[in-house]
Amino acid sequence: MSTNDILQTRRAPAALRAEIGGAVHCPGDPGYDAARSGFNLAIDQRPAAVAVPRHPKEVAAVMRFARREGLRVAPQRTGHNMGPLGYLGDSILLRTDAMDRVEIDATTRRARVGAGARWEDVLPAASELGLAGLHGSTPDVSIAGYSLGGGMGWYARKHGLAANRVTALEVVTPDGEIRCATPERDVELFWALRGGGGNFGVVTALEFELVPIESVYAGILFFPVERAGEVLHAWHEWTATAPEDVTSIGRILQFPPLPEVPEPMRGKSFALVEAVFLCGEEEATRLLEPLRGLGPAMDTFATQPPAGIAELHMDPRDPVPSDSAHAMLGELDATAIEALVAAAGAGSGSTLISVEIRHAGGALSRADDGAGALATLPGSYVFFAVGIADPALAEKTDADLDRVASALRPYEVGRYLNFVEERVDTAGFFPPAAAARLEAARETYDPDRLMHANHEIGAR
Ligand SMILES: Cc1cc2nc3c(=O)[nH]c(=O)nc-3n(C[C@H](O)[C@H](O)[C@H](O)COP(=O)(O)OP(=O)(O)OC[C@H]3O[C@@H](n4cnc5c(N)ncnc54)[C@H](O)[C@@H]3O)c2cc1C
Repeated sequence: MSTNDILQTRRAPAALRAEIGGAVHCPGDPGYDAARSGFNLAIDQRPAAVAVPRHPKEVAAVMRFARREGLRVAPQRTGHNMGPLGYLGDSILLRTDAMDRVEIDATTRRARVGAGARWEDVLPAASELGLAGLHGSTPDVSIAGYSLGGGMGWYARKHGLAANRVTALEVVTPDGEIRCATPERDVELFWALRGGGGNFGVVTALEFELVPIESVYAGILFFPVERAGEVLHAWHEWTATAPEDVTSIGRILQFPPLPEVPEPMRGKSFALVEAVFLCGEEEATRLLEPLRGLGPAMDTFATQPPAGIAELHMDPRDPVPSDSAHAMLGELDATAIEALVAAAGAGSGSTLISVEIRHAGGALSRADDGAGALATLPGSYVFFAVGIADPALAEKTDADLDRVASALRPYEVGRYLNFVEERVDTAGFFPPAAAARLEAARETYDPDRLMHANHEIGAR
């Protein structure tokens, strides 16, 4: 009898329900399909059961139950990185959705949030107080999942990774203990979780620093996609002198012909420069002039409160079937930009929705004292491309992703696991000393490999 079958017997779901108190959905239950669905519709995850605990004690009960029944525990909130999980028939999918409390302390400039809280649950209230979290391009990922994987966002060149702004983590470890990991307590756990992800336990709440930001100057310059070569060359040259106050993205974007996309954009393709400036409008306008001088078709730059940029990158809000490619890149030259445009620009035949290069470096390259397992990101740029992976387009998307990834391969210097949406050997993506220390932490906290994380450390 497989473990999946065990949970389909009447006894196990009843026992799990009785033990944890929160909602439990097992195969065959009416709520199972909705409870197991995630952000990537190309992936059909079928866990042995889905548990939705409401507080740490219920999480501990799920851990105990899983251990007793020979199952594993896979924490998940939104499923934005569900791709690498693979087979879940031997795992309880532990949804953190119900633990979504948010508290902001303006005096200490700290937020304390439940593991189910997403960036959009914090950003508006923080913004009203002249504060911002180090969020990324989409406001609907969980702060926990994003930060445990590193967290590279719109303020990254100035303020670094979100993981290194985390000040405390409430965690249920695989032994069923509820711990509070801080720089003073459970120090190794605190270090490992900040970049090492969900390999060491289920985080039930976290506390992190907010940064004081009253307003940003931010927006997008839209150019016809036929100008991608000229625009991306100019953007790349511009990044060489852009100060750390600016985090920017050069991008080729093909809006799908869907009714949700506003009419002027629907089905159209553009070359874009997106940027967020922290230096005030006057200086930002001066800095932006070489790119603005190219004469964009549309210019959305404006001074706005930090909450205004939550959806600047126009990431999809609803689940989509997608596939992606990613690499961290070192210094780029003009040949790299030409290769990218040849692979994904006008006339390339690419149907990819988005092909982007984010400017990294700055604070992302410097390790803070007391940083976690992911102290820095390698390289100077981040490549990410995404396409639709429904049955009609999956093969073409695969080929298009391969072409653009191959074009940039000579510049690849590593990967950043938050952007990796397939199963990989994680050891290669941390510096050797950090990789060894992470494996040792996994042995300490999860010697039986109870945790089923998206990117597994110390896989057997
Ligand atoms: C459209 C899109 C835009 C993105 N933009 C950015 C960006 O700008 N910057 C960036 O850095 N990343 C970005 N990401 C990547 C994103 O940060 C990761 O996918 C992250 O893992 C999402 O966290 P989640 O909890 O919402 O996702 P989930 O898929 O629910 O969780 C991912 C993994 O995180 C771990 N995890 C989650 N919650 C817990 C918990 N409470 N305890 C223990 N482990 C946990 C688990 O191992 C889980 O498998 C983006 C992804 C997408 C799809």
